[in-house]
Amino acid sequence: MAKCLRMSNHPFYPRVEALTRWLVNIPSVTNTPGEAACARAIAAHLGQLPYFRRHPDHLRLISTVNDRLDRQNVFALVRGGGRAAVGLAGHFDTVGTAGYGQLEPWATDPGQLLPRLQAELAASPGADAALCLADLNSGEWMPGRGALDMKSGLAAGIAVLERWAAEGMRGNLLLIATPDEEDNSHGMRSAAGLLPTLLAEWELDLQAVINLDATVDQGDGREGRRVFLGSTGKLLPFVFAAGCEAHVSRPFDGVNPNLVIAEVIRRVEYGADLCDTAYGETAAPPVSLKMSDFKAVYDVTTPSAAWAYFNLLTLSRSPAAVLEQFTAIAHEAVGSAVAQLRRQAEAHPAATARGGPLLVREPTVLTFAALREKAGAAGRAALERLIPRLQADPTVDPRVFSGAVTEALWQASGLQGPGAVVGYGSLYYPPVHLDEESAGGSRIAAVVRSRAAARGVGIGHFFPGIADMSWLGGADSADDLAAVEANSPFLGVLAHFDYPAARRLQVPTLNAGPWGRDYHQRTERVHMPYAFETLPRLLWDICCDVAEE
Ligand SMILES: [Zn+2]
Repeated sequence: MAKCLRMSNHPFYPRVEALTRWLVNIPSVTNTPGEAACARAIAAHLGQLPYFRRHPDHLRLISTVNDRLDRQNVFALVRGGGRAAVGLAGHFDTVGTAGYGQLEPWATDPGQLLPRLQAELAASPGADAALCLADLNSGEWMPGRGALDMKSGLAAGIAVLERWAAEGMRGNLLLIATPDEEDNSHGMRSAAGLLPTLLAEWELDLQAVINLDATVDQGDGREGRRVFLGSTGKLLPFVFAAGCEAHVSRPFDGVNPNLVIAEVIRRVEYGADLCDTAYGETAAPPVSLKMSDFKAVYDVTTPSAAWAYFNLLTLSRSPAAVLEQFTAIAHEAVGSAVAQLRRQAEAHPAATARGGPLLVREPTVLTFAALREKAGAAGRAALERLIPRLQADPTVDPRVFSGAVTEALWQASGLQGPGAVVGYGSLYYPPVHLDEESAGGSRIAAVVRSRAAARGVGIGHFFPGIADMSWLGGADSADDLAAVEANSPFLGVLAHFDYPAARRLQVPTLNAGPWGRDYHQRTERVHMPYAFETLPRLLWDICCDVAEE
């Protein structure tokens, strides 16, 4: 398509384009068998290269750890000599294709999809459709599921590796292709755990890992054409509220935990005071992703417990500090719920006639770790009964698991409401940023800044999405990581990650990937001149400078 509009005859362009089409053509939706097929296809392709025919041991297809689905990571090392190595990392899973509607049969075939999407867009009103149609008509954009996020990035990495092998470069280049970034980062968590062993076996010092993930830019590309020196972190703090049950005809005898959770949400939602800032950038504010009570059936008794959990992005704030903030918020929320109860009871003739609300106990607010401690042997016995049931149910995810375990421990603890428990309901993605104070970090930053500038590419601090870079480093203290482990009920049971080991890895990571528009939508499309030429040439420059030390 639109060959005449190619901006250059650089050999990277047709190679990355062909590799992108080939990868997009392999359906690899997260948590489907397509992921395993895609890993095998990538390994088989690399295995055909003369370099890997000579060195089959430098190509590894390794199963991910504790995986219900049988998925693999691909590690491909092109050795040039010495110990210095650069990693190029990318995920090959994609989100689903149902959003393509009638065009779904062509979602993974860019050539077939293009004219059909153009026809559909030409018939649809609206500015978004007009922009997409103009893009596609320009000949500079490729549509297709995964074309942007992030098979074109992986294709650029494979093209650089192929050329590295063909030209017999001096340094070492290691490609790491992983499944499941979109759901649980299962692939990269496993890969990070394995890296120390592989690096020791191959006698490599990893100087940096360049993640190849995609950026969205709905404008002219200035935002998208950037290398990021770090990546946003993510926590999922939860507040569990225990109330005191009451019959609906005597509500002032109890405390409704739904009111406590409402007060928590009122304090947290969009909270500017909770937004993290670093390097002059501000993370998006927290939002609630769930609020519910724990009633399984309908009756006319107020719920015994309720909870909410929140997405909280971090740039430098530590998990222990976040836990402290949410504990303080839970304290305030219980306090104001009880105050509201008292005010309303005073204003209610029947309640005052009876002498006011139930004598409200002093609220108990504690962390999940403290609750577990408090519940002691009774808590351990309760969990011994509960956890096997939760593990046997494939619909139970870390969030559901955390809620159920917290409720069981609260009951076993003998504590009475009102009260609240604060913990983490999902995997912690540590924020990462190149440490420009360190010798290694400052050298890499200098290379990246000058090489990017030479190609008209900008620098950003935090990759705006949640990325697999988080699993390769992080600067949290041992105390912080201990706080995460002690307050994440599911960790070590439903999901595994050795945070201290990743902290020891301390690999400088950056993100240099394709840019495009509308990822995860049916109009997902990648800007080809950047992804197919500028990006691989920039990767090549950086790898030469860093790996060929
Ligand atoms: Zn991605």
